[in-house]
Amino acid sequence: MALIELRDVAKAYPPRRRGGDPVHAVDGVTLDVAEGEILGIVGYSGAGKSTLARLINALEPATSGSVVVAGQDLTTLRESELQKVRRTIGMIFQQFNLFHSRTVWGNIAYPLKVAGISATEQQERISELLHFVGLADKAHQYPEQLSGGQKQRVGVARALASSPRILLADEATSALDPETTQGVVDLLRRVNAEFGITIVVITHEMEVVKNLADRVAVMEDGKVVESGTTFDLFARP
Ligand code: ADP
Ligand code: ADP
Repeated sequence: MALIELRDVAKAYPPRRRGGDPVHAVDGVTLDVAEGEILGIVGYSGAGKSTLARLINALEPATSGSVVVAGQDLTTLRESELQKVRRTIGMIFQQFNLFHSRTVWGNIAYPLKVAGISATEQQERISELLHFVGLADKAHQYPEQLSGGQKQRVGVARALASSPRILLADEATSALDPETTQGVVDLLRRVNAEFGITIVVITHEMEVVKNLADRVAVMEDGKVVESGTTFDLFARP
């Protein structure tokens, strides 16, 4: 069974104007993500990528169809059960979403504190994560003292803190220059290779997907219009 299974999933938002048509942000998407795989979801702005991410992450309910994550059908779960599913998914974002008033250490500690992890265990885990992302010497810096690439490394460490099975990256390299982007792409590859974490990369940047994803789904107007291995879609002559 796939780790993420979307079956004919749709999400409609109310019309923008009274008497207008509903917005079909996601419109009949069927997609599987296997455990340990890196899936790229590409498409232009407005294609429905972020909406799809929020459906997978149980932040919003689908209008119809089924969303199954780690064997759990999200459409049938209660809020308390949805929270458990959310904890199996780490997220990183375009604007990093770090706490400005907390140090690097404090940012990574946050999800561990929320989960009630003991102080000793927190220390151990945070040190490991800082080493993994190459920021051991930045523990006491604040986000504003870091470069964009370093901020995203903190984002990755924070996302990994709660030991997720899935990492969802929503335009995670879109605010970074090409060289820094490559650094984050390499880091995500290590996250996948060393921890076996399944990664869903949402982006409008084709290059990122070509460099990182095993498989690609192309979205347009809420639909998956093409999908296949990265090799089949991009590399095959
Ligand atoms: P992408 O991430 O590919 O840019 P989105 O999922 O953000 O696409 O948006 C898909 C469509 O759904 C767009 O037309 C957008 O305006 C609309 N949309 C997204 N979120 C909402 C919302 N909360 N309310 C109403 N319309 C929305
Ligand atoms: P805040 O979360 O208020 O911004 P810090 O992030 O600086 O504070 O630290 C939170 C707690 O984590 C500290 O009280 C300290 O016990 C622990 N801590 C912070 N940095 C380190 C470190 N490099 N090594 C070990 N423990 C640390």
